[in-house]
Amino acid sequence: MTRERYGSAVAVGGGIGGSMAARVLSDHFERVTVLEEDVFPDSAEQRRGVPQGNHIHGLLSRGRSVLDTYYPGFTEEAVGRTAHLVKQTSEIRDHRRYGWAPRFESPLRVLLLSRPLLELIIRSRTMQISNVTYRGSHKVLDLVSEDGETVTGVRYRNAAGENAEMRADLVVDASGRRSDASKWLKNLGYEPPETVTVDGRWSYSSCFVRTSPGWDPGWKATTAHPIGSVTEGPRRFRGASMLRQDGERRWIITLWGSGGERPPGDPAGFFDYLRSVGYLDEAIPHVELLNEPAAWSATANRLRRFELMKSRPENFVLLGDAVAAFNPVYGQGMTMAMVGAVDLETELVEQRKRGADGLHGLAGRFQSRLAESSQLPWKLSTGGDFRVARLAGFAETPQDPKDAALQAYMDRIDALSSEDDELKLKLLETLHLVRDPGWLTDDEDLRQRVTADWDRLGKMVGV
Ligand SMILES: Cc1cc2nc3c(=O)[nH]c(=O)nc-3n(C[C@H](O)[C@H](O)[C@H](O)COP(=O)(O)OP(=O)(O)OC[C@H]3O[C@@H](n4cnc5c(N)ncnc54)[C@H](O)[C@@H]3O)c2cc1C
Repeated sequence: MTRERYGSAVAVGGGIGGSMAARVLSDHFERVTVLEEDVFPDSAEQRRGVPQGNHIHGLLSRGRSVLDTYYPGFTEEAVGRTAHLVKQTSEIRDHRRYGWAPRFESPLRVLLLSRPLLELIIRSRTMQISNVTYRGSHKVLDLVSEDGETVTGVRYRNAAGENAEMRADLVVDASGRRSDASKWLKNLGYEPPETVTVDGRWSYSSCFVRTSPGWDPGWKATTAHPIGSVTEGPRRFRGASMLRQDGERRWIITLWGSGGERPPGDPAGFFDYLRSVGYLDEAIPHVELLNEPAAWSATANRLRRFELMKSRPENFVLLGDAVAAFNPVYGQGMTMAMVGAVDLETELVEQRKRGADGLHGLAGRFQSRLAESSQLPWKLSTGGDFRVARLAGFAETPQDPKDAALQAYMDRIDALSSEDDELKLKLLETLHLVRDPGWLTDDEDLRQRVTADWDRLGKMVGV
């Protein structure tokens, strides 16, 4: 087995995508090194390189399923380390544009845990793999290539401030939303990829809270996203969510603003905003803030089209937010970073089957596969944001008419699902990326039901 492996691989960034990539690469390379700018904390603490860790991080079912496959027993371990496994359709209260979604029993489960805890578990499990090494305080500065056509390593700065190079047969950029890959490619003489941006101008303000002893609201999470609300008034562009996190009496509250609305980052303003939406009034007397609220506004959907590059260096691939950074309110980013690692494994296996000697051609094929996998999440998150932008009056990029027609249809399926539990479950499974979306357009009975009821369903969701 060992002789069949490639030599060495480097993952840039030790976040979700970097650790997942290392896990996958460890089966295909003799040595895998994760280079991360930050120091790795030993516990579930916030860290500088992942400032989004202060905010709600929902894990889609597809992401959890990937984690259970690559880290057997992951869900049980997470629950043993204070995560909560909750029933999506009965224990989560979800406010949609038509009002509160009906609650009913179903097999769909969701794991609630903080981003730092999730990352810690994935990292700790990956660190246990014998051929994987993590190096903290290593900032990658550039790619290295002798001939400009094949990447042969990276240049980095270590904790002592010294610059050095590390050779690698494959470099995976998983350095997130602020990836410098376009600059690195330019340095090697390549045209940077085209970038597409769709911005619904969402903002967050989040705070971990402790609740009063014995307080039980009858739900384990409330989610109320301002996704183009039917109502006028504060709720049109304001929302709030509250989820159980990491142990007893510990929750997180995130205030949402869409269409340019910005929730405040000070404690008094935080509560005023929370009261203004009214979704969590019963919780307010029972919560004590555990930290200063953290604000965040970099939420635009941003797609870098690496798959369309006319020429690219071999042996360099990118995944996670470095490629597709989704508006985080739709909860897809971490799962898509994991899907990227799974796609990489698929291409590594295909490369072997092809009988290829090295990794030639893998980079282009991988970026195309990842672009294909990213299509549905991209349509889901940009579809909602086009609507928000239109309502707020600043739609800058025109929406593709085909996507707009699909969105109008999806909006009505959402409305209809409030009257049909089976449909609601199918829709949720699709949004959790565990059900093929083909049924949405192929199901003729559904199409007839929606078409026959078009105007009423549209009114329910304000379109
Ligand atoms: C406010 C907010 C809320 C979010 N909520 C959700 C949610 O509910 N669900 C969800 O799935 N996703 C959510 N996301 C998205 C999620 O955080 C990202 O999609 C996910 O972390 C992407 O993983 P990644 O590995 O690509 O990047 P990251 O996890 O961000 O990791 C990148 C890593 O690279 C390191 N790094 C950067 N540059 C260098 C360098 N030059 N050298 C070495 N290391 C470097 C960073 O320090 C960091 O550790 C949210 C994001 C934000 C901003």
